Amino acid sequence: MNWREQVAEYEQAMVEDLKGLLAINSVRDDSLMSKETPVGPGPREALEYMYKLAERDGFKHVDVDHIAGRIEMGKGSELFGILCHVDVVPPGSGWDTDPFNPVETEDKIIARGTLDDKGPTIAAYYAVKILEDMNVDFKQRIHLIVGTDEESGWMCTDRYFQTEEMPNLGIAPDADFPLIHGEKGLTTFDIIQNSSKEDVTAPEVELKALNAGERYNMVPDFAEAKLAVREKMDFVLQSFDNYLHDHQLTGKATVVSGSLLLQIEGKSVHGMDPSIGVNAGMFLVNFLNTLSLDEKAKAFVALGDRYLFESHFGEKMNMAFEDAEMGRLTTNIGVISYTDIDGGHYGVNLRYPTGFDFTTEIAGFTDQIKEQGFDIVVNTHQEPHYVDKNDPFIGKLLTAYRNQTGDMTEPYTIGGGTYARNLEKGVAFGAMFKDSVDLMHQKNEYMTKKQLFDATAIYLEAIHAVCVED
Ligand SMILES: [Zn+2]
Repeated sequence: MNWREQVAEYEQAMVEDLKGLLAINSVRDDSLMSKETPVGPGPREALEYMYKLAERDGFKHVDVDHIAGRIEMGKGSELFGILCHVDVVPPGSGWDTDPFNPVETEDKIIARGTLDDKGPTIAAYYAVKILEDMNVDFKQRIHLIVGTDEESGWMCTDRYFQTEEMPNLGIAPDADFPLIHGEKGLTTFDIIQNSSKEDVTAPEVELKALNAGERYNMVPDFAEAKLAVREKMDFVLQSFDNYLHDHQLTGKATVVSGSLLLQIEGKSVHGMDPSIGVNAGMFLVNFLNTLSLDEKAKAFVALGDRYLFESHFGEKMNMAFEDAEMGRLTTNIGVISYTDIDGGHYGVNLRYPTGFDFTTEIAGFTDQIKEQGFDIVVNTHQEPHYVDKNDPFIGKLLTAYRNQTGDMTEPYTIGGGTYARNLEKGVAFGAMFKDSVDLMHQKNEYMTKKQLFDATAIYLEAIHAVCVED
């Protein structure tokens, strides 16, 4: 069967349906949240749009509290899931065209959501529709599950799977080809200073405030500390200068009416691989630990220095762990803050491969730092998501991809999280190709028509292999 040829006669209809979906501004709107529009009117309108396509094409659909829903296709006892979403991130500024008035050129479609995830949603929808039009003999039911809150809190899938059937197998066309079959466990936690010991000594330097970073999943690229220096100002200034020089860092010291402001610049990268960034905050902590600080501040920076500084793989917390397939555990210190009144906290983003027992390890670490006047609060914890790449299901998806593209790239695992982790046995499967320009969440987002049609052919062949062939 020439699957790409099967797609050819649907090309114009696909482009029209996609443009209709793109024309809906489906950014979550917290100011218009209601029972009728759980994440705002735009996302709901986009969901209803998908239902209208289903009605037009003769498929049943089921709505779940207006926040998610499904289009039902195929037949059989086993259930195959395709998990998509029709909400988009805000367009931001700098677009050359109206982000919600799709522009079609000879080879591409430009609008917010073309790649993430409206284009792939339409591609997957058409793949199943084409099979239905071919009157193939399905061996599995198919649910095309449509969420409306992927970009924010995943309220859609949380709600959906509270009551609806979990597919036996599934794909999320919301990332990259060839296929992502494993995602690390994702945690964020705070190491909080709880001692409020009164200082009895007269410190040379008092730390008034320290700040770096705003997000757990980014390496802070800027850090600032405010100090009251009682003695040896020249020594502190000279030490800071030497420190910057020794560590090849950029920074600045400013004396403002008796207090000293220290600033360090770093390099921000995503928190899934902090070792390639420069954590401005932790360097500042490391420097501050060389000064004769007041006791509370000393305890704070000493703890950071001992367990967190330049320790991107959990080594200093004694949590280093590695899995042959999923790689190393990583630790990013994304948020650092301290005030002389409240004490300080470190906000950590720890990502771990399968086989690591986070709950036990974090409890052990908590015991260890309790004696030093610190506690840990775990904010978020998602278990690792993993599907064996030797599973026959993966083989079928991969074969379809390879047949259509000739590219033999192996499936891989990542440190981030994709929508696929909502499925018990699901993988991220497209629709970005190796040579696609990744404009997800960026201005002038576009999808080439070739990418849209090629992805459809891959989904067509893959769904045929999984749901129609024995
Ligand atoms: Zn997405």
